[in-house]
Amino acid sequence: MSNLKAYKYRLYPNKKQAETLQWTLDRAREFYNKAECAGSRVLLVSPKYTSQKCSGCGAIVQKELEERWHECSCGCSLDRDHNGALNILRLGLQATKTLSRARTERSEDAPLRSPRL
Ligand SMILES: [Zn+2]
Repeated sequence: MSNLKAYKYRLYPNKKQAETLQWTLDRAREFYNKAECAGSRVLLVSPKYTSQKCSGCGAIVQKELEERWHECSCGCSLDRDHNGALNILRLGLQATKTLSRARTERSEDAPLRSPRL
């Protein structure tokens, strides 16, 4: 969070925008804390194309912001936010698998050590 605070003054010199960013950072901090208290983990994923990509087939379906319904030629038809949420979930699950695989590979490569006594 401290790195983000440093950026806010460079990216958002306007006082109102800085206050808005601070409010967003505070909500994010609350979200992280609640997730941690609940024993959950928060993963950050790129929002790129999450509203344009079809959660059914992966095709890019361009739409304007005011278009609230996702309709794809594959037959996938659902609310735009629902489609985006499914894409975000998929990215999070992929990131989790990548992290698990990295941990497993790291632990297999790690030399055997006797425990500290
Ligand atoms: Zn589709």
